[in-house]
Amino acid sequence: MLVAGNWKMNLDLAAARQLTSGVVSAVGTPKGTGVALCPPFVDLDATYSLLHGTGIRLGAQNMHEQDSGAFTGEISAPMLRAVGCHYVILGHSERRQLFDETNESVNKKALQALSHRLVPIVCVGESLEQRDADRHNMVVEEQVRAGLANLEVSSSSEIVVAYEPVWAIGTGRTATPDQVQDMHGHIRSLLQDIFNEAIGSGIDILYGGSVKPGNAAELFERPNVDGGLIGGAALNAEDFAAIVRCAEEAA
Ligand code: PEP
Repeated sequence: MLVAGNWKMNLDLAAARQLTSGVVSAVGTPKGTGVALCPPFVDLDATYSLLHGTGIRLGAQNMHEQDSGAFTGEISAPMLRAVGCHYVILGHSERRQLFDETNESVNKKALQALSHRLVPIVCVGESLEQRDADRHNMVVEEQVRAGLANLEVSSSSEIVVAYEPVWAIGTGRTATPDQVQDMHGHIRSLLQDIFNEAIGSGIDILYGGSVKPGNAAELFERPNVDGGLIGGAALNAEDFAAIVRCAEEAA
């Protein structure tokens, strides 16, 4: 089980410190579930200082596929490691939609993350149009197979997949527990096929899309739902901690 908060482009340094302290005291020591915060790049260092020793891990929201070089405005995997990141979110639908990320670029970044011992949280998910056209399983299969191509993984803890239907992100519209269960089962079979039975069975598959304290329990109790990637509700320490408790209860 893993609950990761994606703060997106929110919170300056002072606000990031305040929320991190709030999360640390509201969550306490995580029991049987992983917890991570993914702030904007400029808040990573300060957030790590407050998280260090708490059991709550740090993640970034994106990274470049090269180690260093003439890539103005970009941040590399070694830089993320140096400020204490354990995770990096890759291929979030906002990056796919607004910044032209493709399955191929997500794959290059995932390979790079693994080679620097960062755990990629690879996001997949269909648009409303694709769901309405009953193409969601095919679209997600393409994203999973292409995004995870050629990855050499020796343990299931080296990678995380997040299913985030685009129509449920930041809209207040959550996928139903049945829809989530069906897609997570589909992704589980793909992971078993891509890697092997043991590794594919152990990889955490998170659900993301308007998860709140009020709906987290019914989602996390479903098979193959191994936690959540939380956007809006991660900006409130009490809400985020309540979602973590739902994951702890389901673990
Ligand atoms: C997200 O940004 O990954 C997300 C799931 O956002 P929200 O929880 O706000 O829908």
